[in-house]
Amino acid sequence: MAVLRFEDVTKKFGKVTAVNHMSFETKDGEFLVILGPSGAGKTTTLKIACGLVNPTEGKVYLDGEDITKVPPYKRDISMTFENYSLYPHMTVFDNMAYPLRAVKGEFTEDEIKNRVVEIARMLHIEELLDRFPAEASGGQKQRIALGRTMVRKPKIYLLDEPLAHLDAKIRVELREEFHRLEALKLATTIYVTHDYTEALSLGDRIMILNEGVVQQLDTPEEIFYRPVNLEVARQVGQPAINTIECDIKEKNGRLILVPVDEASVSFPVSNSDKEKIKNYGKSKLILGIRPKDISIDDSKNKESIEVTVDVFQPLGSEGVLTSNAGDLQLIALIPPETKIDHGQSVKLYYNPEDFYLFDIDTKENIKLKY
Ligand code: ATP
Repeated sequence: MAVLRFEDVTKKFGKVTAVNHMSFETKDGEFLVILGPSGAGKTTTLKIACGLVNPTEGKVYLDGEDITKVPPYKRDISMTFENYSLYPHMTVFDNMAYPLRAVKGEFTEDEIKNRVVEIARMLHIEELLDRFPAEASGGQKQRIALGRTMVRKPKIYLLDEPLAHLDAKIRVELREEFHRLEALKLATTIYVTHDYTEALSLGDRIMILNEGVVQQLDTPEEIFYRPVNLEVARQVGQPAINTIECDIKEKNGRLILVPVDEASVSFPVSNSDKEKIKNYGKSKLILGIRPKDISIDDSKNKESIEVTVDVFQPLGSEGVLTSNAGDLQLIALIPPETKIDHGQSVKLYYNPEDFYLFDIDTKENIKLKY
């Protein structure tokens, strides 16, 4: 069993509240990803979990046992830091062996050697064992730091941005490796990132954190398609979701959304959303449309809007189109081979079923609430 639970945990550093009344529970053996912007409290959450930071209030439990006051070395939890924290004067082997040697008398040198070599093999860094960290590349240092965390077979792994500072190709390679690492599959892992693609790719569940507050803890699919609020919707998806403040109006018996900044265009809503908007009862809302839900292809989509092309960036597998309809800006993901020029008028298509609707005041997802 390896279940970590935070019960109403708050951490203040002077006037800064890094973690604010946080409660959550991992599932045994799951890969839980914490996603949030810089300063959201992600690292502080991990440090509280492993005992490097004491909470100002609240309790932490491991498998039901209160570990709030248990020192880090007595918790069965290992943490890898973003900046590697390798000892420069020790070889890679000694760096990796360190956590096993630190618990004096528990492992023989033979056992330590076997375990270090086994993990090094798994992470493809066996040939580096006799070198010093300075003789390893950034990606290799990241693997060494990960290896040092993994030698111990703890109940919980805490990984703080383990792929940060790596170039895009190595990131993708290592991300794939995370899927394959048996040791991580067996233990419960909490993984911090601010990269939503990593979160969606790796997480059994994702916890979205903002200003120390848990916004949503859910499966990647729920987070993407049913975000509880605008903040969560903005955290996942690149380019970010288009958000448009709109007046709610009625025209010829249909409910339409008219952008506050550009009254010459309107967005008709679907029948299922009509009821929800009526129950919501206010006269304004924030409309969210993901760039992937806007296209130049009319075959599946019902409604259209005339826009002028501002910038088109063909980025390999997709093209990012930035366009304007008067004062309204719309970003769409379209095929990269599209021939399109600045200033050209085009029709963009969308399906109102794909709309996200948020409360103008609380920013909560109207579709989930009403
Ligand atoms: P990043 O993605 O930039 O690493 P984060 O989400 O991990 O950010 P934290 O490092 O947990 O965020 O920091 C949360 C808040 O707490 C920030 O405002 C930070 O400045 C503050 N903070 C963190 N540690 C300390 C400390 N030791 N002393 C004072 N303030 C701190």
